[in-house]
Amino acid sequence: MTPGVKPLIAGNWKMHGTLAEARARAEAVAAGAAGLQADLLVCPPALHVAPVARALRGLAVAVGGQDCHAAAKGAHTGDISAPMLADAGATQVILGHSERRADHAESDAVVRAKVVAALAAGLIPIVCVGETEAERLAGQAEAVVDRQLAESLPEGFAGVIAYEPVWAIGTGRVPTEADIAAIHAAIRAALVARFAGGGQMRILYGGSMKPGNAAAILALPNVDGGLVGGASLVAADFLAIARAAG
Ligand code: PEP
Repeated sequence: MTPGVKPLIAGNWKMHGTLAEARARAEAVAAGAAGLQADLLVCPPALHVAPVARALRGLAVAVGGQDCHAAAKGAHTGDISAPMLADAGATQVILGHSERRADHAESDAVVRAKVVAALAAGLIPIVCVGETEAERLAGQAEAVVDRQLAESLPEGFAGVIAYEPVWAIGTGRVPTEADIAAIHAAIRAALVARFAGGGQMRILYGGSMKPGNAAAILALPNVDGGLVGGASLVAADFLAIARAAG
């Protein structure tokens, strides 16, 4: 944790489930949110953002998108814009997730343009960075993350960073606590060097975070919450991770 920074536990629901399941999960998360020290965020598939936001209106769980286009509007079949997400009730948006970078060939420049669009629409961007397994084995993890930060974050950035080693996502494998702490310290240093307020920006860890490992990870310096995939699909597990944040 970073002193003075309220943790954020964010759930990335990816492309899972029906609307009825999304609503029920959101309501179950909200029902367990009382008394938590962490802020909670759920990021349903785009189609479910508006109904989930309606279900959560007035409750202590925010709603986010999983991606947005870099343009505010236009001829972009199948895409959604940052203003549309905001209009649907989202307050935050995940950008540059490794699955977007891999499946849709999103470069750092594309991610940066999306971050600009999100900020212009009043959304808080959650920008994902992280090395592949080959890059880690080659001793490149910190350099890769540094480059992603330098090239994905625009001047004047204000938002959240999520460190998500690609090889830890959905695999059940997690870096050592020392490795997580080292990358988070490097991210903190990069944010402080470049942005006013960089010392207080949230840096989340993501990659196979579960109820059983969350407390140890969340206790590390500069780990200000989690971006949770698989475990966020079970409300009880997501809430257990949130309770581990203190
Ligand atoms: C993610 O995809 O952002 C993620 C962290 O997934 P998981 O928790 O399933 O590894």
